[in-house]
Amino acid sequence: MESVIDGKTSPAYTRRCLGCNMIYRYQEWQDGLHSFDDHVLLSLELCLYLRHSLQNHISVSRAIDTLEGLRGVKYPNRDTILHGYCHFEALTDTDYIYSCVNCGYHPPEVIMDLHKKGVFSMSVSDLKEPPPEFRGEVDIEDFWKSVNLEMIGRGFVPSQTKNPFAVQPSYSRWAPWIGHKTRMDHTVLNTEFAKVTTAKVTSAEAQMMNVSEDRLVDELMKQKVGVVRKLCKACNIDSKGSRMDLISRLRAEMQNRQSYDKMFQKIWGASGVWSVILCPHGVVYSIKFNLRAESPRDFAHLLLSWKHIPNVSIYDFARGLATHGNLRVPTDIPFHPHEGRLAEPTPESISSAKQGKLKVSLPWLFEKTDNSSSKGHPITGSSEHYVLYDKLHESNTKDPQDVLRRISLVPELQGWLNSQIAEQFFASLRKNNYFLNNMAPSTHIFIMCNIVHHKNTSTNQKLLEVQLQRGHRPHGLENITLSDLGQAILAQQASDRETVQHHPHQLNQKDFGD
Ligand SMILES: [Zn+2]
Ligand SMILES: [Zn+2]
Repeated sequence: MESVIDGKTSPAYTRRCLGCNMIYRYQEWQDGLHSFDDHVLLSLELCLYLRHSLQNHISVSRAIDTLEGLRGVKYPNRDTILHGYCHFEALTDTDYIYSCVNCGYHPPEVIMDLHKKGVFSMSVSDLKEPPPEFRGEVDIEDFWKSVNLEMIGRGFVPSQTKNPFAVQPSYSRWAPWIGHKTRMDHTVLNTEFAKVTTAKVTSAEAQMMNVSEDRLVDELMKQKVGVVRKLCKACNIDSKGSRMDLISRLRAEMQNRQSYDKMFQKIWGASGVWSVILCPHGVVYSIKFNLRAESPRDFAHLLLSWKHIPNVSIYDFARGLATHGNLRVPTDIPFHPHEGRLAEPTPESISSAKQGKLKVSLPWLFEKTDNSSSKGHPITGSSEHYVLYDKLHESNTKDPQDVLRRISLVPELQGWLNSQIAEQFFASLRKNNYFLNNMAPSTHIFIMCNIVHHKNTSTNQKLLEVQLQRGHRPHGLENITLSDLGQAILAQQASDRETVQHHPHQLNQKDFGD
Protein backbone atom coordinates (compact mmCIF):
# COMPACT_ATOMS: atom_id res chain seq x y z
CA MET A 1 0.00 0.00 0.00
CA GLU A 2 1.12 3.57 -0.65
CA SER A 3 1.74 4.49 2.93
CA VAL A 4 4.02 6.52 5.11
CA ILE A 5 5.00 5.71 8.67
CA ASP A 6 5.72 8.81 10.66
CA GLY A 7 7.51 7.97 13.90
CA LYS A 8 7.67 11.53 15.20
CA THR A 9 8.95 11.01 18.69
CA SER A 10 11.08 7.92 18.60
CA PRO A 11 12.70 6.12 15.70
CA ALA A 12 10.12 3.86 14.10
CA TYR A 13 12.53 1.11 13.16
CA THR A 14 15.97 0.43 14.54
CA ARG A 15 18.58 -2.25 14.28
CA ARG A 16 20.68 -3.51 17.15
CA CYS A 17 24.07 -5.11 16.71
CA LEU A 18 24.00 -8.60 18.20
CA GLY A 19 27.66 -8.33 19.15
CA CYS A 20 27.85 -5.05 21.04
CA ASN A 21 24.20 -3.99 21.38
CA MET A 22 24.81 -0.74 19.57
CA ILE A 23 21.69 0.66 17.92
CA TYR A 24 22.09 1.64 14.32
CA ARG A 25 20.01 3.07 11.54
CA TYR A 26 17.41 0.98 9.75
CA GLN A 27 18.16 1.22 6.03
CA GLU A 28 16.90 -1.95 4.44
CA TRP A 29 14.30 -2.75 1.86
CA GLN A 30 13.32 -6.38 2.50
CA ASP A 31 10.33 -5.29 4.59
CA GLY A 32 9.06 -3.18 1.70
CA LEU A 33 9.98 0.04 3.47
CA HIS A 34 12.35 2.87 2.73
CA SER A 35 13.62 4.77 5.73
CA PHE A 36 14.21 8.43 4.96
CA ASP A 37 15.38 10.05 8.16
CA ASP A 38 14.87 7.32 10.75
CA HIS A 39 11.44 8.79 11.54
CA VAL A 40 9.63 8.91 8.25
CA LEU A 41 9.47 5.63 6.35
CA LEU A 42 7.93 5.38 2.90
CA SER A 43 6.60 2.10 1.59
CA LEU A 44 8.49 1.01 -1.51
CA GLU A 45 5.19 0.94 -3.32
CA LEU A 46 4.67 4.60 -2.48
CA CYS A 47 8.15 5.39 -3.84
CA LEU A 48 7.33 3.63 -7.11
CA TYR A 49 3.93 5.30 -7.20
CA LEU A 50 5.65 8.69 -6.96
CA ARG A 51 8.11 7.69 -9.68
CA HIS A 52 5.23 6.85 -12.03
CA SER A 53 3.31 9.96 -11.01
CA LEU A 54 6.27 12.09 -12.03
CA GLN A 55 6.33 10.33 -15.42
CA ASN A 56 2.73 11.46 -15.79
CA HIS A 57 3.51 15.05 -14.81
CA ILE A 58 1.97 14.72 -11.35
CA SER A 59 4.06 16.33 -8.65
CA VAL A 60 4.84 14.58 -5.38
CA SER A 61 2.59 16.96 -3.48
CA ARG A 62 -0.37 16.39 -5.83
CA ALA A 63 0.10 12.62 -5.67
CA ILE A 64 0.10 12.77 -1.87
CA ASP A 65 -2.95 15.07 -1.81
CA THR A 66 -4.77 12.43 -3.83
CA LEU A 67 -3.79 9.63 -1.47
CA GLU A 68 -4.64 11.69 1.59
CA GLY A 69 -8.12 12.31 0.21
CA LEU A 70 -8.59 8.69 -0.77
CA ARG A 71 -7.39 7.12 2.46
CA GLY A 72 -8.60 9.77 4.84
CA VAL A 73 -5.30 9.83 6.70
CA LYS A 74 -2.85 12.65 7.22
CA TYR A 75 0.51 12.34 5.46
CA PRO A 76 3.66 14.18 6.59
CA ASN A 77 4.51 17.48 4.99
CA ARG A 78 5.05 17.38 1.26
CA ASP A 79 8.63 18.61 1.28
CA THR A 80 9.60 15.81 3.65
CA ILE A 81 8.06 13.27 1.29
CA LEU A 82 9.75 14.87 -1.73
CA HIS A 83 13.09 14.67 0.06
CA GLY A 84 12.27 11.12 1.12
CA TYR A 85 11.59 10.22 -2.50
CA CYS A 86 14.87 11.80 -3.68
CA HIS A 87 16.63 9.92 -0.90
CA PHE A 88 15.08 6.69 -2.18
CA GLU A 89 16.11 7.37 -5.79
CA ALA A 90 19.63 8.34 -4.73
CA LEU A 91 20.01 5.01 -2.91
CA THR A 92 18.70 2.84 -5.74
CA ASP A 93 21.27 1.14 -7.90
CA THR A 94 20.30 2.91 -11.12
CA ASP A 95 22.64 3.16 -14.09
CA TYR A 96 21.80 6.41 -15.84
CA ILE A 97 22.87 4.90 -19.12
CA TYR A 98 21.09 7.42 -21.37
CA SER A 99 21.24 5.24 -24.46
CA CYS A 100 18.73 4.02 -27.05
CA VAL A 101 18.39 0.28 -27.72
CA ASN A 102 18.19 0.93 -31.47
CA CYS A 103 21.01 3.46 -31.78
CA GLY A 104 23.35 2.04 -29.16
CA TYR A 105 25.89 4.03 -27.19
CA HIS A 106 27.05 5.99 -30.22
CA PRO A 107 24.13 7.22 -32.31
CA PRO A 108 25.15 8.27 -35.84
CA GLU A 109 22.41 10.93 -35.99
CA VAL A 110 21.35 13.26 -33.19
CA ILE A 111 18.98 16.14 -32.70
CA MET A 112 19.82 18.97 -30.33
CA ASP A 113 17.51 21.47 -28.84
CA LEU A 114 16.80 23.68 -25.90
CA HIS A 115 14.23 23.21 -23.21
CA LYS A 116 13.74 26.92 -22.70
CA LYS A 117 11.31 27.10 -19.85
CA GLY A 118 12.96 24.67 -17.45
CA VAL A 119 14.44 26.98 -14.88
CA PHE A 120 15.12 27.20 -11.20
CA SER A 121 15.42 30.30 -9.13
CA MET A 122 19.00 31.40 -8.95
CA SER A 123 20.55 34.78 -9.12
CA VAL A 124 23.45 34.96 -11.53
CA SER A 125 25.19 37.30 -9.15
CA ASP A 126 25.36 34.41 -6.65
CA LEU A 127 27.74 32.61 -8.94
CA LYS A 128 31.36 32.92 -7.93
CA GLU A 129 34.09 33.38 -10.49
CA PRO A 130 36.00 30.14 -10.97
CA PRO A 131 39.54 29.93 -9.54
CA PRO A 132 42.22 31.30 -11.92
CA GLU A 133 43.66 27.82 -12.56
CA PHE A 134 40.28 26.50 -13.77
CA ARG A 135 40.63 25.22 -17.34
CA GLY A 136 36.99 24.61 -18.16
CA GLU A 137 37.07 20.90 -17.35
CA VAL A 138 34.73 19.36 -14.82
CA ASP A 139 34.48 15.84 -13.44
CA ILE A 140 31.08 14.47 -14.37
CA GLU A 141 31.26 11.50 -11.94
CA ASP A 142 32.38 13.66 -9.13
CA PHE A 143 29.70 16.27 -9.65
CA TRP A 144 26.76 13.87 -9.89
CA LYS A 145 28.05 11.84 -6.96
CA SER A 146 28.00 15.03 -4.92
CA VAL A 147 24.40 15.73 -5.97
CA ASN A 148 23.47 12.18 -4.98
CA LEU A 149 25.25 12.61 -1.69
CA GLU A 150 23.26 15.74 -0.95
CA MET A 151 20.03 13.77 -1.45
CA ILE A 152 21.27 11.02 0.87
CA GLY A 153 22.58 13.55 3.37
CA ARG A 154 19.11 14.99 3.82
CA GLY A 155 18.10 11.84 5.64
CA PHE A 156 20.62 12.64 8.37
CA VAL A 157 20.11 16.32 9.11
CA PRO A 158 17.12 18.16 10.58
CA SER A 159 16.94 20.71 7.74
CA GLN A 160 18.43 21.33 4.35
CA THR A 161 20.32 24.38 5.58
CA LYS A 162 22.25 22.07 7.91
CA ASN A 163 23.13 19.65 5.12
CA PRO A 164 26.94 19.60 4.83
CA PHE A 165 26.66 18.03 1.38
CA ALA A 166 24.49 20.74 -0.16
CA VAL A 167 25.57 21.49 -3.75
CA GLN A 168 25.47 25.08 -4.96
CA PRO A 169 25.62 26.06 -8.61
CA SER A 170 29.19 26.97 -9.51
CA TYR A 171 31.12 27.43 -12.73
CA SER A 172 33.98 25.22 -11.71
CA ARG A 173 31.99 22.10 -10.76
CA TRP A 174 28.63 22.17 -12.53
CA ALA A 175 28.55 19.29 -15.02
CA PRO A 176 26.21 17.97 -17.69
CA TRP A 177 25.06 14.36 -17.74
CA ILE A 178 26.28 12.02 -20.48
CA GLY A 179 25.97 8.23 -20.06
CA HIS A 180 29.25 6.51 -19.20
CA LYS A 181 29.33 4.42 -22.41
CA THR A 182 28.76 7.46 -24.61
CA ARG A 183 31.20 9.92 -23.09
CA MET A 184 34.90 9.84 -23.73
CA ASP A 185 35.98 10.20 -20.16
CA HIS A 186 34.65 11.40 -16.83
CA THR A 187 36.28 14.75 -17.47
CA VAL A 188 34.01 16.87 -19.63
CA LEU A 189 34.03 20.42 -20.87
CA ASN A 190 32.15 23.21 -19.20
CA THR A 191 33.36 26.66 -20.02
CA GLU A 192 30.30 28.63 -19.09
CA PHE A 193 32.38 31.06 -17.09
CA ALA A 194 33.79 32.22 -20.43
CA LYS A 195 30.34 33.60 -21.16
CA VAL A 196 31.02 36.20 -18.49
CA THR A 197 34.67 37.02 -18.79
CA THR A 198 35.30 39.77 -21.25
CA ALA A 199 39.01 40.15 -20.70
CA LYS A 200 41.44 38.81 -23.27
CA VAL A 201 39.01 38.08 -26.06
CA THR A 202 40.84 36.30 -28.85
CA SER A 203 39.79 36.88 -32.43
CA ALA A 204 38.31 33.39 -32.50
CA GLU A 205 36.16 34.14 -29.46
CA ALA A 206 35.16 37.47 -30.90
CA GLN A 207 34.02 35.67 -34.02
CA MET A 208 32.00 33.31 -31.84
CA MET A 209 30.45 36.16 -29.93
CA ASN A 210 29.34 37.66 -33.22
CA VAL A 211 27.67 34.40 -34.08
CA SER A 212 25.74 34.44 -30.80
CA GLU A 213 24.77 38.04 -31.41
CA ASP A 214 23.51 37.18 -34.87
CA ARG A 215 21.26 34.69 -33.26
CA LEU A 216 19.96 37.11 -30.69
CA VAL A 217 19.30 39.60 -33.47
CA ASP A 218 17.43 36.88 -35.37
CA GLU A 219 15.22 36.43 -32.32
CA LEU A 220 14.77 40.17 -31.87
CA MET A 221 13.55 40.48 -35.45
CA LYS A 222 10.75 38.08 -34.64
CA GLN A 223 9.52 40.13 -31.68
CA LYS A 224 6.75 42.67 -31.83
CA VAL A 225 7.96 46.26 -32.01
CA GLY A 226 6.50 46.94 -28.56
CA VAL A 227 8.68 44.24 -27.03
CA VAL A 228 11.77 45.65 -28.73
CA ARG A 229 10.94 49.14 -27.50
CA LYS A 230 10.56 47.92 -23.93
CA LEU A 231 13.89 46.17 -24.18
CA CYS A 232 15.54 49.43 -25.28
CA LYS A 233 14.09 51.16 -22.23
CA ALA A 234 15.29 48.35 -19.96
CA CYS A 235 18.81 48.78 -21.35
CA ASN A 236 18.62 52.57 -20.99
CA ILE A 237 18.90 53.30 -24.69
CA ASP A 238 16.85 55.53 -26.94
CA SER A 239 13.50 53.81 -27.58
CA LYS A 240 12.27 56.07 -30.36
CA GLY A 241 12.33 55.36 -34.07
CA SER A 242 11.63 52.45 -36.36
CA ARG A 243 11.97 48.83 -35.46
CA MET A 244 15.22 48.57 -37.42
CA ASP A 245 16.61 51.65 -35.63
CA LEU A 246 15.83 50.01 -32.29
CA ILE A 247 17.37 46.71 -33.27
CA SER A 248 20.55 48.30 -34.57
CA ARG A 249 20.88 50.25 -31.31
CA LEU A 250 20.36 47.09 -29.31
CA ARG A 251 22.92 45.33 -31.47
CA ALA A 252 25.52 47.97 -30.64
CA GLU A 253 24.63 47.67 -26.97
CA MET A 254 25.23 43.89 -27.03
CA GLN A 255 28.97 44.49 -26.75
CA ASN A 256 28.21 45.13 -23.12
CA ARG A 257 27.80 41.71 -21.52
CA GLN A 258 25.31 42.87 -18.92
CA SER A 259 23.01 44.24 -21.58
CA TYR A 260 23.50 41.10 -23.60
CA ASP A 261 22.38 38.95 -20.68
CA LYS A 262 19.45 41.23 -20.02
CA MET A 263 18.30 41.01 -23.62
CA PHE A 264 18.79 37.29 -23.62
CA GLN A 265 16.74 36.86 -20.48
CA LYS A 266 13.93 39.02 -21.80
CA ILE A 267 13.82 37.15 -25.06
CA TRP A 268 14.25 33.64 -23.75
CA GLY A 269 12.57 34.22 -20.44
CA ALA A 270 15.23 33.04 -18.02
CA SER A 271 18.88 32.88 -17.28
CA GLY A 272 19.09 29.14 -17.66
CA VAL A 273 17.84 26.54 -20.05
CA TRP A 274 18.41 22.83 -20.56
CA SER A 275 20.50 21.83 -23.54
CA VAL A 276 19.40 18.36 -24.64
CA ILE A 277 20.76 15.89 -27.19
CA LEU A 278 18.42 13.12 -28.36
CA CYS A 279 18.52 10.32 -30.90
CA PRO A 280 15.85 10.23 -33.61
CA HIS A 281 13.78 7.87 -31.44
CA GLY A 282 13.49 10.43 -28.68
CA VAL A 283 15.94 8.87 -26.22
CA VAL A 284 17.99 11.50 -24.41
CA TYR A 285 21.78 11.07 -24.55
CA SER A 286 22.99 14.23 -22.84
CA ILE A 287 21.51 16.98 -20.79
CA LYS A 288 23.02 20.08 -19.37
CA PHE A 289 21.52 22.76 -17.26
CA ASN A 290 23.07 26.01 -18.43
CA LEU A 291 23.83 28.44 -15.67
CA ARG A 292 24.01 31.25 -18.16
CA ALA A 293 22.24 32.12 -21.35
CA GLU A 294 22.65 29.32 -23.87
CA SER A 295 25.02 29.51 -26.77
CA PRO A 296 26.09 26.96 -29.41
CA ARG A 297 29.15 26.57 -27.20
CA ASP A 298 27.12 24.41 -24.82
CA PHE A 299 26.20 21.92 -27.52
CA ALA A 300 29.65 21.96 -29.04
CA HIS A 301 31.14 21.07 -25.66
CA LEU A 302 28.66 18.32 -25.03
CA LEU A 303 29.45 16.71 -28.38
CA LEU A 304 33.19 17.16 -27.95
CA SER A 305 32.89 15.22 -24.68
CA TRP A 306 31.49 12.22 -26.56
CA LYS A 307 33.63 9.25 -27.54
CA HIS A 308 32.28 9.33 -31.11
CA ILE A 309 30.84 12.52 -32.56
CA PRO A 310 27.68 11.67 -34.53
CA ASN A 311 27.93 11.86 -38.32
CA VAL A 312 24.86 14.06 -38.53
CA SER A 313 23.91 16.61 -35.87
CA ILE A 314 20.71 18.55 -36.30
CA TYR A 315 20.34 21.84 -34.51
CA ASP A 316 18.42 25.07 -35.01
CA PHE A 317 21.63 27.08 -35.09
CA ALA A 318 23.80 24.72 -37.09
CA ARG A 319 26.29 27.31 -38.31
CA GLY A 320 27.05 28.49 -34.77
CA LEU A 321 27.66 24.95 -33.58
CA ALA A 322 30.05 24.12 -36.42
CA THR A 323 31.94 27.38 -35.96
CA HIS A 324 32.30 26.92 -32.25
CA GLY A 325 33.27 23.25 -32.40
CA ASN A 326 35.93 23.95 -35.00
CA LEU A 327 37.31 26.91 -33.06
CA ARG A 328 37.62 24.80 -29.95
CA VAL A 329 39.76 22.12 -31.63
CA PRO A 330 41.47 23.93 -34.53
CA THR A 331 44.18 21.27 -34.83
CA ASP A 332 41.72 18.44 -35.43
CA ILE A 333 38.61 20.08 -36.81
CA PRO A 334 35.59 18.06 -35.67
CA PHE A 335 33.00 19.31 -38.16
CA HIS A 336 34.18 18.52 -41.66
CA PRO A 337 34.12 18.39 -44.64
CA HIS A 338 33.07 21.92 -45.65
CA GLU A 339 32.69 22.98 -42.00
CA GLY A 340 29.85 20.50 -41.66
CA ARG A 341 28.02 21.69 -44.80
CA LEU A 342 26.91 19.05 -47.28
CA ALA A 343 28.90 20.57 -50.14
CA GLU A 344 31.56 23.14 -50.75
CA PRO A 345 29.89 26.57 -50.62
CA THR A 346 30.45 27.60 -54.24
CA PRO A 347 27.92 29.84 -56.03
CA GLU A 348 27.00 26.82 -58.20
CA SER A 349 26.28 24.46 -55.32
CA ILE A 350 24.33 27.12 -53.45
CA SER A 351 22.11 27.94 -56.40
CA SER A 352 21.60 24.27 -57.24
CA ALA A 353 20.60 23.58 -53.60
CA LYS A 354 18.22 26.54 -53.66
CA GLN A 355 16.52 25.13 -56.73
CA GLY A 356 16.17 21.78 -55.04
CA LYS A 357 18.46 20.12 -57.58
CA LEU A 358 21.37 19.27 -55.31
CA LYS A 359 21.34 15.82 -53.71
CA VAL A 360 24.11 14.63 -51.43
CA SER A 361 23.98 10.91 -50.79
CA LEU A 362 25.47 9.56 -47.56
CA PRO A 363 25.16 5.82 -48.27
CA TRP A 364 27.03 4.82 -45.10
CA LEU A 365 24.05 5.98 -43.08
CA PHE A 366 22.41 2.78 -44.36
CA GLU A 367 25.38 0.49 -44.78
CA LYS A 368 28.72 0.73 -43.06
CA THR A 369 31.41 1.91 -45.43
CA ASP A 370 34.20 -0.52 -46.30
CA ASN A 371 36.95 2.05 -46.27
CA SER A 372 36.49 3.26 -42.74
CA SER A 373 39.43 4.97 -41.15
CA SER A 374 40.51 4.62 -37.53
CA LYS A 375 38.53 7.78 -36.84
CA GLY A 376 35.40 6.38 -38.45
CA HIS A 377 32.17 6.13 -36.51
CA PRO A 378 31.72 2.55 -35.20
CA ILE A 379 28.29 2.15 -36.80
CA THR A 380 28.74 3.92 -40.14
CA GLY A 381 32.50 3.76 -40.55
CA SER A 382 32.51 7.35 -41.77
CA SER A 383 34.53 10.13 -40.18
CA GLU A 384 32.47 12.90 -41.78
CA HIS A 385 30.53 15.13 -39.39
CA TYR A 386 27.72 17.30 -40.71
CA VAL A 387 25.75 19.92 -38.84
CA LEU A 388 22.34 20.53 -40.36
CA TYR A 389 19.29 22.66 -39.63
CA ASP A 390 16.06 21.16 -38.46
CA LYS A 391 13.19 21.62 -40.90
CA LEU A 392 11.42 24.16 -38.75
CA HIS A 393 14.38 26.52 -38.57
CA GLU A 394 16.06 26.03 -41.94
CA SER A 395 14.39 29.11 -43.37
CA ASN A 396 15.30 31.38 -40.45
CA THR A 397 18.93 31.75 -41.34
CA LYS A 398 20.16 34.65 -43.40
CA ASP A 399 23.49 33.18 -44.49
CA PRO A 400 23.05 31.96 -48.10
CA GLN A 401 25.60 29.18 -47.49
CA ASP A 402 23.25 27.67 -44.91
CA VAL A 403 21.13 26.24 -47.72
CA LEU A 404 23.86 23.56 -47.81
CA ARG A 405 22.82 22.51 -44.30
CA ARG A 406 19.33 21.34 -45.20
CA ILE A 407 18.24 17.83 -44.29
CA SER A 408 16.28 17.65 -47.54
CA LEU A 409 19.52 17.46 -49.54
CA VAL A 410 20.28 13.98 -48.15
CA PRO A 411 18.11 11.19 -49.61
CA GLU A 412 19.08 8.83 -46.74
CA LEU A 413 17.56 11.21 -44.19
CA GLN A 414 14.16 11.37 -45.86
CA GLY A 415 11.04 9.61 -44.72
CA TRP A 416 12.12 8.34 -41.34
CA LEU A 417 13.98 11.11 -39.54
CA ASN A 418 11.63 13.21 -37.50
CA SER A 419 13.56 16.35 -36.66
CA GLN A 420 10.62 17.52 -34.54
CA ILE A 421 11.18 14.75 -32.00
CA ALA A 422 12.91 17.19 -29.68
CA GLU A 423 9.99 19.62 -29.79
CA GLN A 424 7.66 16.76 -28.90
CA PHE A 425 9.89 15.72 -26.05
CA PHE A 426 9.95 19.26 -24.67
CA ALA A 427 6.20 19.59 -24.96
CA SER A 428 6.03 16.66 -22.57
CA LEU A 429 8.68 18.09 -20.23
CA ARG A 430 6.96 21.46 -20.06
CA LYS A 431 4.10 19.80 -18.23
CA ASN A 432 6.50 19.37 -15.31
CA ASN A 433 7.42 23.04 -15.06
CA TYR A 434 4.81 23.81 -12.43
CA PHE A 435 6.69 21.77 -9.86
CA LEU A 436 10.24 21.56 -11.22
CA ASN A 437 10.69 25.30 -11.49
CA ASN A 438 10.01 25.88 -7.82
CA MET A 439 12.72 23.53 -6.66
CA ALA A 440 16.15 24.39 -5.37
CA PRO A 441 18.84 24.04 -8.08
CA SER A 442 20.27 20.73 -6.92
CA THR A 443 16.85 19.13 -6.38
CA HIS A 444 15.75 20.44 -9.75
CA ILE A 445 18.63 18.86 -11.65
CA PHE A 446 18.48 15.63 -9.64
CA ILE A 447 14.76 15.13 -10.30
CA MET A 448 15.11 16.19 -13.92
CA CYS A 449 17.95 13.76 -14.57
CA ASN A 450 15.91 11.03 -12.87
CA ILE A 451 12.67 11.74 -14.74
CA VAL A 452 14.53 11.70 -18.06
CA HIS A 453 16.17 8.38 -17.17
CA HIS A 454 12.84 6.71 -16.45
CA LYS A 455 11.34 8.25 -19.57
CA ASN A 456 14.25 6.85 -21.61
CA THR A 457 13.63 3.45 -20.05
CA SER A 458 10.00 3.44 -21.10
CA THR A 459 10.85 4.66 -24.63
CA ASN A 460 13.38 1.82 -24.91
CA GLN A 461 10.76 -0.64 -23.71
CA LYS A 462 8.41 0.45 -26.49
CA LEU A 463 11.21 0.23 -29.07
CA LEU A 464 11.98 -3.32 -27.96
CA GLU A 465 8.34 -4.33 -28.20
CA VAL A 466 8.22 -3.06 -31.78
CA GLN A 467 11.41 -4.99 -32.57
CA LEU A 468 9.92 -8.16 -31.11
CA GLN A 469 6.69 -7.78 -33.04
CA ARG A 470 8.68 -7.53 -36.26
CA GLY A 471 10.22 -10.96 -35.77
CA HIS A 472 7.95 -13.65 -37.16
CA ARG A 473 8.88 -16.17 -34.52
CA PRO A 474 7.59 -15.41 -31.07
CA HIS A 475 10.28 -13.88 -28.92
CA GLY A 476 10.17 -12.62 -25.42
CA LEU A 477 12.13 -9.76 -23.95
CA GLU A 478 14.32 -12.37 -22.25
CA ASN A 479 15.71 -13.24 -25.70
CA ILE A 480 17.10 -9.77 -26.13
CA THR A 481 20.58 -8.73 -25.20
CA LEU A 482 22.78 -5.73 -25.98
CA SER A 483 25.66 -5.82 -28.45
CA ASP A 484 29.04 -4.32 -27.59
CA LEU A 485 27.80 -1.10 -29.16
CA GLY A 486 24.70 -1.08 -26.97
CA GLN A 487 22.19 -2.07 -29.67
CA ALA A 488 19.49 -4.62 -28.87
CA ILE A 489 19.98 -7.97 -30.59
CA LEU A 490 18.34 -11.35 -30.25
CA ALA A 491 20.22 -13.68 -27.95
CA GLN A 492 21.03 -16.22 -30.68
CA GLN A 493 22.85 -13.50 -32.60
CA ALA A 494 24.83 -12.64 -29.54
CA SER A 495 27.51 -15.24 -30.33
CA ASP A 496 28.55 -13.17 -33.33
CA ARG A 497 27.91 -9.87 -31.63
CA GLU A 498 31.16 -8.38 -32.82
CA THR A 499 29.94 -8.46 -36.38
CA VAL A 500 26.36 -7.36 -35.87
CA GLN A 501 25.76 -3.70 -36.50
CA HIS A 502 22.31 -2.44 -37.08
CA HIS A 503 21.44 0.79 -38.67
CA PRO A 504 19.19 2.40 -36.13
CA HIS A 505 16.53 3.71 -38.51
CA GLN A 506 16.15 0.34 -40.23
CA LEU A 507 15.15 -1.18 -36.94
CA ASN A 508 12.41 1.21 -36.25
CA GLN A 509 10.51 3.65 -38.33
CA LYS A 510 8.01 4.67 -35.77
CA ASP A 511 8.40 7.70 -33.61
CA PHE A 512 7.79 7.57 -29.94
CA GLY A 513 7.55 11.18 -28.95
CA ASP A 514 4.58 11.87 -26.77
ZN1 LIG B 1 28.58 -4.15 17.12
ZN1 LIG C 1 17.57 5.83 -31.09
